[in-house]
Amino acid sequence: MEVPPIKKLAQDVINRIAAGEVIQRPANALKELIENSIDAKSTNIQITVKNGGLKLLQIQDNGVGIRKEDFEIVCERFTTSKLTEFEDLHKIATYGFRGEALASMSHVAHLTIVSKTKQSMCAYQASYIDSKLMDLPKPVPANQGTTIIVEDLFYNMPVRKKALRSPAEEYQKISDVVSKYAVHNATIGFALKKHSGNNDVRTRQGSNHVENIRTIYGDLIARELIEFSIDNSQFKFKAKGFMTNVNYSTKTFQFLLFINHRLVDCQSLKKSIDHVYETYLPKNAHPFVYMSLELDPGNIDVNISPTKHEVHFLNEQQIVETITSTLETKLLGSNNSRVFFTQA
Ligand code: ADP
Ligand code: MG
Repeated sequence: MEVPPIKKLAQDVINRIAAGEVIQRPANALKELIENSIDAKSTNIQITVKNGGLKLLQIQDNGVGIRKEDFEIVCERFTTSKLTEFEDLHKIATYGFRGEALASMSHVAHLTIVSKTKQSMCAYQASYIDSKLMDLPKPVPANQGTTIIVEDLFYNMPVRKKALRSPAEEYQKISDVVSKYAVHNATIGFALKKHSGNNDVRTRQGSNHVENIRTIYGDLIARELIEFSIDNSQFKFKAKGFMTNVNYSTKTFQFLLFINHRLVDCQSLKKSIDHVYETYLPKNAHPFVYMSLELDPGNIDVNISPTKHEVHFLNEQQIVETITSTLETKLLGSNNSRVFFTQA
């Protein structure tokens, strides 16, 4: 039998495969877009979704915008306004850092950008396919800020598209991402709606964490919150947020975790906090916890996976133990005195 020759895949196929790693599902893409809007100093972010984000995923912000002369390269891989030296990776304060999100989306969807900076007289609009600008940016009327329109996600990846869950489930994941970002970035006004529908998530610009937890997750949770704040110099971390007291419990642990302002997963921390509550809640009952954890950027491995979900960091075990024991003390304290309630 003849041995088939080894051939290099076409570049667009390589790009598509790489993009599929970064953008795994609509909620994933939206997370990148929200982070871009926050990086651009937006105070208002509006998201519109059609068919679970597979038909349309649109995000409109009022941030600094994209300069007309940057439209040409904004969707090329590794183009970013946020990082110039490799060393910056370790100090990075903004969310995005790879210049990969928009490029990836342009490989697996039809991407359109409308944007206006403060200095520009008008907004510009352009469409992209496979990182490339289709036509010269054309002037259009729009307010300052950026609108990113992602249409027909995975149109050229039929297998991926099939593997996704129903539009309803994808929408649920989108709603989950928006809800969590809205709690963490409480001063930014967020709105999420289905195309031709009402707002499903809506928060007020200039709001606070507790108000947004109440608006989004309900009063049953909001009235039973204990605030916590840890500042640890030994392991150089800060943790603050809100946890429910023993009066509240739910079937699945609702854990909103931001590490250095990125929505991430950290199984070791999650398990450990859940374990604390085991003693105080009924069997199979779990709490609601929102935590913003800030670590020395040099101690955190943000480069670990292209999807940037599960995070590991230096002294993980000690930090997890320190946080957990503080939370347990808080929980016990509230149980005895019941004076920490945030009920209005
Ligand atoms: P990164 O966020 O890692 O820089 P992205 O592909 O997500 O890479 O974005 C590329 C660049 O496009 C950003 O660095 C930024 O300059 C610009 N950009 C993207 N989204 C926005 C936005 N909503 N407002 C202003 N600029 C944006
Ligand atoms: Mg980005």
